[in-house]
Amino acid sequence: MVTPPFLNAEVVLKRTMSRCPICRKPAPAQVLKVLQEGREKILMRRNCPCHGEHEFVISSDARFYWLAQGDPKNSSCGCGPTCSPAGSGGKEGYLGDNASNEAKHGAIEKLSTCLALIEIVDSCNLKCPTCFADSPLGVSNLKLKYYSVENIIQRIQGVLDLKGRIEILQFSGGEPTLHPDFFLLTELVRSNPAIDYLLINTNGVRFAKDEAFIQQMGSLFRKHSNIQIYLQFDGPQEAGQVELRGADLREIRMMAIRNCERVGIPITLAMTVNQITQNHLWETVTEGVKYNNVRGISFQPIFLSGRVPNLNRAEVLPSPITTADIILGLHDQSGGQVALDDFTPLPCGDPNCATIGWRFRIGEKHFSPSAVGIDIPKLQANLPDRVNYRIEDLKHCGCDNTALGDLMKSLEVKESNAFRLFIKPFMDERTWDEDRIDRCCTHVIRPDGKLDSFCRYYYGSVTESSCC
Ligand code: SF4
Ligand code: SF4
Ligand SMILES: [Zn+2]
Repeated sequence: MVTPPFLNAEVVLKRTMSRCPICRKPAPAQVLKVLQEGREKILMRRNCPCHGEHEFVISSDARFYWLAQGDPKNSSCGCGPTCSPAGSGGKEGYLGDNASNEAKHGAIEKLSTCLALIEIVDSCNLKCPTCFADSPLGVSNLKLKYYSVENIIQRIQGVLDLKGRIEILQFSGGEPTLHPDFFLLTELVRSNPAIDYLLINTNGVRFAKDEAFIQQMGSLFRKHSNIQIYLQFDGPQEAGQVELRGADLREIRMMAIRNCERVGIPITLAMTVNQITQNHLWETVTEGVKYNNVRGISFQPIFLSGRVPNLNRAEVLPSPITTADIILGLHDQSGGQVALDDFTPLPCGDPNCATIGWRFRIGEKHFSPSAVGIDIPKLQANLPDRVNYRIEDLKHCGCDNTALGDLMKSLEVKESNAFRLFIKPFMDERTWDEDRIDRCCTHVIRPDGKLDSFCRYYYGSVTESSCC
């Protein structure tokens, strides 16, 4: 392993449980602040009993890492009597892969669920080489794998019985729009007053190509609102499209955006950020703001779950793309038009799990909140403790005396004037921090009806067997 050139002493920020990049099993880890290449960064160093020490930079700029802990027992590393807080005993008390499914499920159930995702179809009409759900190709009736309406509604009701309400429900897959009863399901969910918002996670193929589908979606949206499309969109540039999707699908994405705009359906663009698309973050923003119905972009650094091409875990894995890389990339690529202060961690869950930034757009122009003296991080204390905070929430916390409240009043700001820059770094073995799982608020409703953390569900459990 190559050790980076540290310029000064490392500072241990915390201990947690991570994963070994070779066998993917739990491995005790330290989170350290280090100085590399003249910048303070955050490093996670883990030690697998079989495969030794490995480290990855989990934040390329320490300013965008927030120290937070989950269950203190995660920091029990078994290093001896000085090991705090749980003392010796290795992973004693640690609720990782050794824990029973019941124990894991019980722990997740106690957490608040900001977003509940349900896969309604397993199959897909694309076969992206980077699909985190590893969805099989299957569009014909014979090959399409999907869940029955009864099964889906029963599982959703199970979560409602447990939690009382669901703030955001996300239909996912596979490609959810392939479900033969897609409109019935959408209607049933939107008619349920205990579900606030429905997100439809889609590759956009039906939205681009199926006029009858678009018309029916349009009338459904006019009837119910509170539906949004979460559209796969990896930037307007050619670079990276084939690597991510196996084909250049830009035309399909643009047709889907325009069709949704025509019938008034709002969209969040979901951009997978890899080493290539990382260079096109600002281009994606400037493309997205052109469309009135595009409400923002969700930047998702690529993570190593599901289908990952050419990945040989015995070799050196690439450095993860971190929240800091996205913020700094947007800042640099925009020539400073996106300010570092425009971003704040979301208050729900672990603060390293989601970061939000804003742009305001008026007509053709869009600008940074800090450019007009609005300090987004300072407003955070007044924001609701949930993922789905909207322009109304900013209005409420921006009372008469605040710059934001004044600005919004003077501009008569509407929902469509706000453009969200959302950063969602899901975890894999390079970045795994069990403390984040302990505070996870993004849950998958599994096929058995139980809830699990999105990261853990797609990463999968690695069975505990000795490997050395
Ligand atoms: S990433 Fe999405 S669009 Fe691509 S194969 Fe997987 S489910 Fe289908
Ligand atoms: S799914 Fe992963 S990244 Fe998202 S809140 Fe849960 S632990 Fe954090
Ligand atoms: Zn190992």
